[in-house]
Amino acid sequence: MKREKSEAAFESAARLIPGGVNSPVRAFGAVGGTPCMIERAEGARIYDLDGNSYIDYVCSWGPLIVGHAHRAVVDAITETAAKGTSFGAATEGETHLAAAIADRIPSIEKVRLVNSGTEATMTAVRLARAFTDRPLIVKFDGCYHGHADHFQVRAGSGLATASIPSGAGIPESAAGHTASIPYNDIDAVRALFAERGSETACVIVEPVAANMGVVVPRDGFLHELRSLCDAHGALLIFDEVITGFRLARGGAQELYGILPDLTCLGKIVGGGLPLGAVGGRADVMDRLAPLGDVYQAGTLSGNPLAVAAGRKTLELLDGEEIYSSLDARGEELERGLVEAIERRGAAACVSRIGSLLTVFLSAGPVTDFESAAEGGKEKFALLFHGMLDRGIYLPPSPFEAWFLSLAHSKEDLNATVESFSAALEKVH
Ligand code: PLP
Repeated sequence: MKREKSEAAFESAARLIPGGVNSPVRAFGAVGGTPCMIERAEGARIYDLDGNSYIDYVCSWGPLIVGHAHRAVVDAITETAAKGTSFGAATEGETHLAAAIADRIPSIEKVRLVNSGTEATMTAVRLARAFTDRPLIVKFDGCYHGHADHFQVRAGSGLATASIPSGAGIPESAAGHTASIPYNDIDAVRALFAERGSETACVIVEPVAANMGVVVPRDGFLHELRSLCDAHGALLIFDEVITGFRLARGGAQELYGILPDLTCLGKIVGGGLPLGAVGGRADVMDRLAPLGDVYQAGTLSGNPLAVAAGRKTLELLDGEEIYSSLDARGEELERGLVEAIERRGAAACVSRIGSLLTVFLSAGPVTDFESAAEGGKEKFALLFHGMLDRGIYLPPSPFEAWFLSLAHSKEDLNATVESFSAALEKVH
């Protein structure tokens, strides 16, 4: 597969943009080679500058659950753009999106629209600290909550990919009030609360972890978190930036039947444009300025184009069979991948929930960050390039989820399994 134009364009990018990318997860640092420069996309496919096409399992890292350039979403954006792209003043569309979110996410009574998942998690933590008048944030190893200072402690996603346990440029005073403990380890949570319960403002968790690869919560883990937070007067924050509107209409909290105090949203809620949201209990949310004393603001927050794309995407997810059909796609892909692994006798396992999936190149089971890291990066790089050369675009890291969309067809899934089978021969 020729990628000459991509290579030249990437060289130009790298002269001006650190690492040639505007978000580290787009780099090929963990897999080697030059990133494909994408020119356009449609449905489940992306096309690079050289005209190569790939079945896409990144889907912009989750937002594009209805597929790329969905006609209805593009129309909503262009119709809105014709009326003005930003006003810095309130619009009715924001209320409609807020209502759509509150209608779907069980625990959300009030919601503030922001520009990214990072802004949502930053705001949630600030609210929790103000509401409880306590400093400590409890998070889990391998979970990723955006790039704010206080989350850069044993974080997943790009930090795990680049083996940066805790980023530079973050003073002890910023990250010193963060405790990070193993995911799925309720005894560790109990021990932490026993020792530091009176300092703990919140526990923030990806209800299904998807930034160390997909790691599902053990039975009862999330319910226990809820009880421990209640017992110690701490807030429970679900970071549903990935899982929100993906695992169910009401996110992971609907699936597991748990009401967190605050929920962070991003990705799907903006339909592929920059938008995030933080929402939850009205008494907590009402601490936000201008009603309360917790400051949060944004020039482009609630941007009309992003609001239009988000509203249309949520609407498209309202069909009766949407989530069962996403799950069916995930199940079919998982079945094919597992058969290929078994045929080959490879030490690999598939971790999946609904339309989120990761192939770990270790025997498993994967339950936390430590077990997620067992496969190593070298074997993954071989798999990645074996797939890329066969027209399948995976996240360029072993620590990420593969994202399925409603645009992935049976043929796409079959082609993916075939390529996986062939690529696996080089790995094992
Ligand atoms: N939280 C989770 C669970 C995420 O996966 C991400 C991004 O991948 C974020 C927060 C940060 O979102 P953003 O990249 O929009 O700032």
